[in-house]
Amino acid sequence: MTAQANIHLIHTQDWQEALQDGFADVNALLEFVDLPKTDLPAPTFSQKIPRIFAQKITKGDWHDPILRQFLPTEHEDVPQTGYVLDPLAERAHSPVPGLLHKYKGRVLITPTGACAVHCRYCFRRHYDYSSHTKQSHMAAILDYIRADSSIFEVILSGGDPLSLSNARLSKWLDALEDIDHISTIRMHTRTPVVLPMRLDASLQARLNACTKSLVMVLHTNHPNEVDDTLKIHLEPLKAHLLNQSVLLKGINDDADTLVALSYKLFKMGVMPYYLHMLDKVQGSAHFQSDVDLDALYQALLERLPGYLVPKIVQELPFVANKTPFFYLAD
Ligand SMILES: *Cc1c(COP(=O)(O)O)cnc(C)c1O
Ligand code: SF4
Repeated sequence: MTAQANIHLIHTQDWQEALQDGFADVNALLEFVDLPKTDLPAPTFSQKIPRIFAQKITKGDWHDPILRQFLPTEHEDVPQTGYVLDPLAERAHSPVPGLLHKYKGRVLITPTGACAVHCRYCFRRHYDYSSHTKQSHMAAILDYIRADSSIFEVILSGGDPLSLSNARLSKWLDALEDIDHISTIRMHTRTPVVLPMRLDASLQARLNACTKSLVMVLHTNHPNEVDDTLKIHLEPLKAHLLNQSVLLKGINDDADTLVALSYKLFKMGVMPYYLHMLDKVQGSAHFQSDVDLDALYQALLERLPGYLVPKIVQELPFVANKTPFFYLAD
């Protein structure tokens, strides 16, 4: 049986339904995973996780590596020294609302602020999406890209570009495909990891018809996040598939977890790309790993074939590329 046929067999829900069927309340999630309720106030950055993804959490385990990424804690609305609202000073690099032009030849656009999940460590959690993602900005964004022939790659980010409907996403792809100097379209997305059925047949057909090189960078932090359902949905895609992770204390800041993640993704045709050091956004201090990066990287080099070793990098506010950890000043 083809992978395509499988897709229709394994899901009774379409992705929009699955997106709505989730936990937007801390105690509802805790009850689902058999943990006692809390009296935490509702967090500023709301909780959000679809049921199909929450099913991967081990019941009764506060330390579950998926639960910890999505469960708000009492720490996060407390100001912490060195943790700020806009750690990357992104506003300084935004010539048009909804577009960042910081790196040579590459622009990053944020066509939506919505995500299928709310990761507690998210560096865009305080981002003013309302002023950046309006549909009305599309024309100005496209004009900017058309006017600068040094731009060869457009990165659709967000939020999560796969929160857009297929129709809206296609409008972006159509317009970008019409620009001759664009050779590559890239998407950074976590949605297929949390809702594999988002890669539905119609989206796959559109992506496979793309006339530019297409790169999809998934965002997976822990091997428990992915299984064969994702594999089946990735199989028909012709895009180059990469993964980026964020280094998170007690979740994936050890060689065993990262080695397992690289192998698991490789079996799905996904190559590791970046392992990001945490951006110091307000509310994320409890995710800051204190692991010895030299030792961690050395262990990855020893245990993985070179092509499965992610680049450990940090995004710095005024540097126009990711900075490898071994270039960072202490
Ligand atoms: C990370 C990033 C890019 C892409 O960088 P690559 O090294 O090509 O993956 C582009 N623009 C901005 C603003 C970024 O943060
Ligand atoms: S999916 Fe990405 S952009 Fe969305 S909340 Fe998670 S880390 Fe942030």
